[in-house]
Amino acid sequence: NFPADTVPQAPEDPLFGLMAAYRADPFDKKVDLGIGAYRDDNAKPWVLPVVKKADEILRNDPALNHEYLPIAGLSDLTTAAAKLILGADSPALTEKRTHSMQTISGTGAVHLGGLFLSKFFPGKPTIYLSDPTWANHKQIFSNVGLPSAVYPYFSKSTKGLDFDGMKAAIAAAPNRSIILLHACAHNPTGVDPTPAQWTEIAFLLRTKNHFPFFDCAYQGFASGDLARDAWAVRYFASQGFEMCIAQSFAKNFGLYGERAGCFHFITYPGPNATQTISRISSQLAVLQRSEISNPPAYGARIAALVLNDPVLFAQWEDDLRTMSGRIIAMRKALREKLEELRTPGSWNHITDQIGMFSFTGLSEKQVLELRSQAHVYMTKNGRISMAGLNSGNVEYFARAVDRVVR
Ligand code: PMP
Repeated sequence: NFPADTVPQAPEDPLFGLMAAYRADPFDKKVDLGIGAYRDDNAKPWVLPVVKKADEILRNDPALNHEYLPIAGLSDLTTAAAKLILGADSPALTEKRTHSMQTISGTGAVHLGGLFLSKFFPGKPTIYLSDPTWANHKQIFSNVGLPSAVYPYFSKSTKGLDFDGMKAAIAAAPNRSIILLHACAHNPTGVDPTPAQWTEIAFLLRTKNHFPFFDCAYQGFASGDLARDAWAVRYFASQGFEMCIAQSFAKNFGLYGERAGCFHFITYPGPNATQTISRISSQLAVLQRSEISNPPAYGARIAALVLNDPVLFAQWEDDLRTMSGRIIAMRKALREKLEELRTPGSWNHITDQIGMFSFTGLSEKQVLELRSQAHVYMTKNGRISMAGLNSGNVEYFARAVDRVVR
């Protein structure tokens, strides 16, 4: 018999606990800065207008059915998704050195990549994660038997990148380690390397024969410019790296619950590339089959429709600018308010950081005070979701921060 009563209680996911506490709070001015989902200026979820349009087209299509997708997913999506992240003229694509699988959003892509590497990466590799990183990374990799270690990333003093610490740790890692990199809009810090720093990171990875694993959850959502947010991935691909990419369409399409994403594997240029890709795709298909059989169809169809239609694509770019523009405006407003109030400390990092999240530098004690005194909810590490700020609450939040910092 399975001694079910020996199963220990798992620790609560800190983010879900925070969300429950927020929901239970009856205070009318409460502020939710925990959520990792876009909100409009009225603090409401936002269905992208282009997604509404694509949804309508799909619903009215008499040929629409609910058959299974292929194991590798909707090819209209995976092909367009590879072009989106790599650029249509990428040698990795023109030389047919990539294989793409549709996954259960970005989480599923990280998982599929981890599972694949844990089975096939030679030796006993360790995956190096930034410190801090997305809370789910460590447990996804440990669940597939891939041990993880960390490299320094965030400098508490500058609230920017600890570039020297990052480079030193990557240089000290055993040759041929796997290095997880956030493609843009690093979660949770909002701190990204500059192109010059990415160039150095690529050189270092090359010298050490490390394997880059890019996690890209925010393309287009960070700066509003799809190419700019893909710069690092495209640069690494242009350097001929063998690498993989986890790609999410949760944030940039607002398709959170539809679970649309892709995993891409790129192999080296060379005469064996096509055969290598064919073998890798066969193994990925076995893994996918045993885990989910077939990926979900509806969100994939919406994203594929938009990615393959120039008019819808242009509208999507507008929608991306709307979301990223509002977030950038909130960064500016928050910094201005704090500087106006002469809140102790420097606040330039709020506008230097990019994407959904900002690492404020607030201590755990200050975070808890904000919750008890001002009904402001954020994770204990001082991370705020910029999407939770709007023109109606940014001043309230700034004043609350001012009080706990003094
Ligand atoms: N990676 C990172 C860095 C993320 O921030 C997220 C979203 N929170 C994901 C992956 C995956 O999200 P999803 O599974 O919803 O696409």
